[in-house]
Amino acid sequence: MSVGHKMKVDVLVLGGGLSGAAAAFEAARNGATVALAERSFMLGGAATLSLVNPWQTFHSPSGRVIGGFAQELTEKLRARGHSLGHLPDPVGFATSVTPIDPDGLRSALDEEAKERGVAVLYGHRLRDAEMVENRLRSVTLEDEHLGTICVRAPVFIDATGNGDLSNMAGCRMEIDSDCQPMTLIFTMDAVDFEAVAAYHRARPEEFYEGAAKDGPLRGGYIGVSGFFEHVRRARESGRLMVPRDRVLFFGNTRPGQVVVNATRVTGKHGASGTELSEAMREGLEQTKNLADFMTSELPGFARARVVRIADQIGVRETRRLIGRYVMDENDIHANANFDDAIAKGAFPLDIHSGADASLSYEKVSGKGRYDIPLRCLLNSEVENLLTVGKCISVTHKGFSSTRVMPTCMAVGQAGGAAAALSAKMKRDPEEIYPLIRDALRSAGAIISEEDIVNDIDALALG
Ligand SMILES: Cc1cc2nc3c(=O)[nH]c(=O)nc-3n(C[C@H](O)[C@H](O)[C@H](O)COP(=O)(O)OP(=O)(O)OC[C@H]3O[C@@H](n4cnc5c(N)ncnc54)[C@H](O)[C@@H]3O)c2cc1C
Repeated sequence: MSVGHKMKVDVLVLGGGLSGAAAAFEAARNGATVALAERSFMLGGAATLSLVNPWQTFHSPSGRVIGGFAQELTEKLRARGHSLGHLPDPVGFATSVTPIDPDGLRSALDEEAKERGVAVLYGHRLRDAEMVENRLRSVTLEDEHLGTICVRAPVFIDATGNGDLSNMAGCRMEIDSDCQPMTLIFTMDAVDFEAVAAYHRARPEEFYEGAAKDGPLRGGYIGVSGFFEHVRRARESGRLMVPRDRVLFFGNTRPGQVVVNATRVTGKHGASGTELSEAMREGLEQTKNLADFMTSELPGFARARVVRIADQIGVRETRRLIGRYVMDENDIHANANFDDAIAKGAFPLDIHSGADASLSYEKVSGKGRYDIPLRCLLNSEVENLLTVGKCISVTHKGFSSTRVMPTCMAVGQAGGAAAALSAKMKRDPEEIYPLIRDALRSAGAIISEEDIVNDIDALALG
């Protein structure tokens, strides 16, 4: 590998979120030389830059469907006190939640990159893509001082979350007019968990109906979706400006702290720089308004204060690939199995409305889990480009389930194996699917029903 203004690797991964990191590490595990370019100065994407927490979900109702890198990382973080491991979801949406510490995660990902020999290019963003016929030949990256580096590779992975590289290279993409809204997440400390739980037990009708009747506090971990009446009154009187019907917050890994996922910026395009800038400013205004409301009106928050605001507003949905297969909500509810499965998902279809204050939510029918096929990572326009993470080929509604972090890591890992093997064999990933599947299985990934881990009883104990 040569480093400087030109670089040549087997696999270039663009975007260092959880899917990109998983892809880069798995490509390296399969013997590829790998560069991972990230426009910010941290790995982890939404989990670190936007403080999104907890990871949900690793589990369908009858077993764990996410293994491999995501599970190893959870165990590593847990051993260091940077994750509480898998816990039952106190909100009642998913089977499990996995709280993590964003700073612990950021360090662990960088360490992992060092151990696996992945060259991380922090502060580098996509500037140009050079196509030769229907292949990507090189990608030019620009650093924050306007220096450039041209990276050539036989295979590229787009893990930007926005599909920036796929879009630039000419893949078919779509973006919905009713994209899910953005949220600026913030952390509060000195929250009195017992007081929140006592109120929840006394007034369960003020909270999401799926929540446990004995309250939202389990073994010291809290998660709440509701305070509907408080929010309704405050919005009607004009004290609360946030266009949302509830407050949603979860504990992180620190006593007394909660991560508030409740601001809502609608009608802005996550793939437009100017609209993102406006969204960030609106998110900051909403953060102040919401935190004031919470401390002055919600039980348990009288002494709470904001201790951290995310560096970047969280963008739930932007462009998605229209790939060789477009998975939809019918596949998800039918618990689809595919001959080219590379990962599984189990999160409910969960749509934060971009038009009004509501949230729509459907549990996955039947077994509560489904396969994701390799074809959702592949396009028909650019031979040597894979797309991983939240912008894979799914519909707007299908996306509302596949977008979550455990699934993005599993999909990323699969993309990494596919890219490395495709580079080595000089074959299209679809032609070498059995090799990809075997490589993933040898890394502990969960692909078919027999791989599912039945650890639900351990989960129930918290
Ligand atoms: C507000 C909000 C709440 C959510 N709640 C949950 C939850 O509770 N649990 C859950 O599991 N999931 C949740 N999600 C979903 C989840 O966080 C994301 O869908 C997931 O993290 C996406 O991972 P990714 O790797 O595909 O993309 P990202 O995490 O977005 O990573 C993409 C990376 O690429 C980089 N990048 C982008 N463009 C370029 C470029 N042009 N050049 C170089 N680098 C680039 C970015 O800086 C970023 O680091 C939530 C998302 C949001 C926004």
